[in-house]
Amino acid sequence: MPTRKAVEQALLKTLFNHNGVIKEFAKGEEIVNEIADTFDLSQKQRTILLERKYYKEDRIVKSPLWHRLLYRAAESLAKNNLVSRPKSTFHLTNKKEWMLTEDGFSEALKLSNIPESQKEFLPTKSFELQKYIRKITQATRPKNYNPFDKEKKITKVTTESAMRNRGFRQAVIEAYDYKCAFCGLKINSPDTRFWEVEAAHIVPSSSMGKDDIWNGLSLCRLHHWIFDTGWFTLQNDFTIIISTKINSLPSKFGLMGNDNVIRIFSSRNSKILLPNREEIYPHQNAIAWHRENIFSR
Ligand SMILES: [Zn+2]
Repeated sequence: MPTRKAVEQALLKTLFNHNGVIKEFAKGEEIVNEIADTFDLSQKQRTILLERKYYKEDRIVKSPLWHRLLYRAAESLAKNNLVSRPKSTFHLTNKKEWMLTEDGFSEALKLSNIPESQKEFLPTKSFELQKYIRKITQATRPKNYNPFDKEKKITKVTTESAMRNRGFRQAVIEAYDYKCAFCGLKINSPDTRFWEVEAAHIVPSSSMGKDDIWNGLSLCRLHHWIFDTGWFTLQNDFTIIISTKINSLPSKFGLMGNDNVIRIFSSRNSKILLPNREEIYPHQNAIAWHRENIFSR
């Protein structure tokens, strides 16, 4: 059987490959087998039973040794603050899952030979980040929202501002189920680590736009560019408006196969895709600013 240290490392890597979370270990859980696979454990090794005697109650409890080893490794990671226990994660997400902490995330990156700088782009969940995400997605929607952050200075990146960036990005793309709000495209990289969509600011960062869910939209790279350059904007009811400049665009511009990537929306009078809770829809104040200041009529 593998050593506990080796199991701990395998556990961190598996957590990373599963976006930072795995279910609480239970009998027949797929994850238990998945980690056993990384050690090429035989069927016999997977099913060896460990007997524990409870003298007081005069009974014997049998549990699989591999299961026990896995649980011990997870407990040890939790003691070292590299993962959060299902009980603690439950308070945050209502799911009984083991979740990476920020330190555990860093350790998993090291073990997977991925530079720490990639943290910013990975959609991996961490306990601290989820706390932040919960804060920005559960906040009460203000009636009169000010989408500008006067304090926002693009000076040096602090731990706090890096966390805010990642939190904004994750909260937004998760709220839109990893889809582009305009075209609905949903795709990740072949290794499943990266999502194609980006969290766009409605009032851009360069204009001091806040990193709030109300100032965010999940967009594919193409539509992010099209939105930021003013080809599109939104009515207050989230209907897409496209620039009249489309009529003077050379006919071969903007084609993807036979479709024009901008014009496909002009005939539909359609609305963007929205999150499942109204509380976190983009705010009309941010949209109005985009319409007045970025959109090209
Ligand atoms: Zn798109």
